[in-house]
Amino acid sequence: METLFGDLEDIKAGESALFADVILPVPIPKMFTYKIPRNLKEEIGIGFRVIVQFGKKKILTGIIGKVHQKPPSAYEAKPILDVLESHASVNPIQIRFWAWMAEYYCCHIGEVMNAALPSGLKLSSESKIQLNPTFDADTSPYPLDDREALLLQALSNKEEMSYEDCEVVLGIKSIHGIIKSLVIKEAILVFEEVKEKYSPKVESRIRFRTDLAKDKEALEAVFNEVSNKPKQEEILLKYLQEVPVYRNPELNQNGLEKKVLSDAGLSLSSLKTLIKNGILEEFKIIVSRFEDEQGHNEDIVLSPEQEQAQNTIKEAFEEKNTVLLHGITGSGKTELYIKLIQEALEGGSQVLLLLPEIALTTHIVGRLRQVFGSKMGVYHSKYSDNERVEVWNGVLSGKFSFVVGVRSSIFLPFDSLGLVIVDEEHEVSYKQFDPAPRFQARDAAIMLAWLHQAKTLLGSATPSFESFYNARLKKYGYVTLEKRFGDAQLPEFQLADILVDKKKNLLKLDFTRLMREKIQEALKNQEQVLIFQNRRGYAPYISCEECAWIPECEHCDVSLTYHQFGEEMRCHYCGFREKVPQSCRACGSSKLSAVGLGTERIEESLSLLFPEARIARMDLDTTRSKYGYQRLLEDFGSGNVDILVGTQMITKGLDFDKVTVVGIMDADRILYFPDFRAGERAFQQLTQVAGRAGRREKKGTVIIQTRRPEQQIFQQVMSGDYKNFYIQEMGERQRFFYPPFVKMLKITTRHKDFKTAEKAARYLHNLMAEIQVKKILLGPEKGLIGKIKNQFIFESIVKLDKSGNAQAQFKHELQLLIEELQVQKDFRAVRFIVDVDPY
Ligand code: ADP
Ligand code: ZN
Ligand code: ZN
Repeated sequence: METLFGDLEDIKAGESALFADVILPVPIPKMFTYKIPRNLKEEIGIGFRVIVQFGKKKILTGIIGKVHQKPPSAYEAKPILDVLESHASVNPIQIRFWAWMAEYYCCHIGEVMNAALPSGLKLSSESKIQLNPTFDADTSPYPLDDREALLLQALSNKEEMSYEDCEVVLGIKSIHGIIKSLVIKEAILVFEEVKEKYSPKVESRIRFRTDLAKDKEALEAVFNEVSNKPKQEEILLKYLQEVPVYRNPELNQNGLEKKVLSDAGLSLSSLKTLIKNGILEEFKIIVSRFEDEQGHNEDIVLSPEQEQAQNTIKEAFEEKNTVLLHGITGSGKTELYIKLIQEALEGGSQVLLLLPEIALTTHIVGRLRQVFGSKMGVYHSKYSDNERVEVWNGVLSGKFSFVVGVRSSIFLPFDSLGLVIVDEEHEVSYKQFDPAPRFQARDAAIMLAWLHQAKTLLGSATPSFESFYNARLKKYGYVTLEKRFGDAQLPEFQLADILVDKKKNLLKLDFTRLMREKIQEALKNQEQVLIFQNRRGYAPYISCEECAWIPECEHCDVSLTYHQFGEEMRCHYCGFREKVPQSCRACGSSKLSAVGLGTERIEESLSLLFPEARIARMDLDTTRSKYGYQRLLEDFGSGNVDILVGTQMITKGLDFDKVTVVGIMDADRILYFPDFRAGERAFQQLTQVAGRAGRREKKGTVIIQTRRPEQQIFQQVMSGDYKNFYIQEMGERQRFFYPPFVKMLKITTRHKDFKTAEKAARYLHNLMAEIQVKKILLGPEKGLIGKIKNQFIFESIVKLDKSGNAQAQFKHELQLLIEELQVQKDFRAVRFIVDVDPY
């Protein structure tokens, strides 16, 4: 592994590379070494996509990660078969980045490559067959059956056949058996043909024959020619109207979309005649999938506080690579970003702005678009493959020197990053849970910036403890913005005691009196309300009133969530659905009731409590479509909705003038979560959702419903006392050895059989115990959810000393152990998953 951080080129002066280490999209720990054939020597280098043979029959595309002169010791290197392109798709910094990621997050570099390349750029392969030239039916010891003979006969007239061709010849589906038998009889060879998946968007256009457009007299002649053919004349006139070539002949080059003519109801057969007569010509052009928008590189006027912050950031960057901007909600971090981005771009470097998943369709992108127009690339998780490749190529070609994107945008082919900004850096959605690489995009972004010698700015109103800790250690610079922009004030908080209201009979459909009054008041003033509950569906579960039976998922160890929409119960872990049973499956009673609070139920309750209000709901279920989220926000923004109910989706970055009341339905649910970060996340969520209220002139109100109003965290959230909260929580973390005081790894073992999963987990656990580094090892225990998708789950936790070499050594040895276990007969089907810095 060390080599990955060394030189990617290891060649003596004056000599050319003899071997290439190729990154392959397969779960193997290393790069494989291939010979560079003499005829390709001049054409390839680091980052090129090449075709190689892997194993006996597999043909794979890989990327050259390193070139050198040392033959592999354990096997004979095969030659690279072909090179796919005339320029490198991936640059050396990216390859270093991938190598770092594989090492740090304990996965294979091929897995990183898989995550990094949009699938449009990864080639797909199609299996094909070929007659084996040495095969002779007469001397073969194996007789052929009818279908095999038929297929061989068809092949004898052709060089190759795809599986589909074979199916057509044989008139049947599923030909794998036949092919396999032919391979065994050595009659055919199977190989894979590699195909590019990306297809650019092509438009059919027309234009004047090029020499005509440049010659006014010739054009006159053409018009004389068609003067008695009105339909043709009409087309030419329409063309001139849309593309004034008289004024500027250059315009003819890009022509006119054919669609414009057909939309105008013009005759397509006349168009054909014009083309046939050589007056117009038809051509194809590659166009962008994104709309063209003009930006206005406006002069941002910062408030005095913002300007002060900007200067402090710049000063801090003189000494530190990373700066944490701790700015309260509404303090105007976005404007500051814009200013810094403008400056970086003017200085000639590239900029990446990372946003959490969902915030991408919101205000911030709209605002950035106003300033940067289509110079800004957007990399969205809901984009299609083709759209992603277009952004990728846009970065390569220099069209986009600024990209705003979700976590996977750290993999784009930047070659001269100057500034990386991670907005809402505390957000959990920066962590990729599955599949590998299980990376934290914020942390990876800091590494990426370091590789580019660039600076990183982390922005948040509620920094992650990791970042704040680093700021206090002075590893990061630290800058604050403590005032909301303009005259906006922070909202006022009020606690509403659920149990007290219940006792006094004031709790109606889960709403306390205070909450109802505040909502009513806002509605009366034509203001808007946000209601937060971090649970989708109608109710977390259904329960039998007689015997307490609860319906559970067949495939996972969890209760099914009741969704009123569709009258069904769903598993939020595997997607399993079933109709709500009529009666209890344990005792037969028909008294089944929905227990607990989901967003669907709150929406229903609100419509009963406030029948005149317009209510909408925003959660995973209502925002699945590509523009679902955006549409809901537009509705809310334009005032068509009075009350918006939602999950954590509504806590992120919303900036609406008329929101004056924010209600948190069940704060206790946020607080009691079995995770060492529960307190930190509760503080963040409460502060963020509260931060949506009163962002303009009028002061907002936040109502927190709870059963235990005496808890200290409420006082700390209300007074914005992040620091004291931090100090207190960090005391706990230090005492009980939690991050950031230790490096934590979670090792998960999964198998469909309980016993095997447990055995494998214990086996690995005992081996880990023997690794000679200072550590705390916990487990293995049944996972918090013991079974997901029919796989039983065991977990071990490792806590490592952060100083010195313990981490690297432990990870390295752990990888080797897993490799060893994975080939043992008993454990071959077991999945061992390593999660570094788990959540
Ligand atoms: P944050 O991201 O810190 O919560 P925003 O960047 O969304 O805050 O800013 C809050 C509001 O104040 C936005 O509507 C923004 O347009 C406005 N704003 C902030 N700074 C300025 C500025 N310098 N000039 C004009 N408007 C500003
Ligand atoms: Zn029952
Ligand atoms: Zn399930």
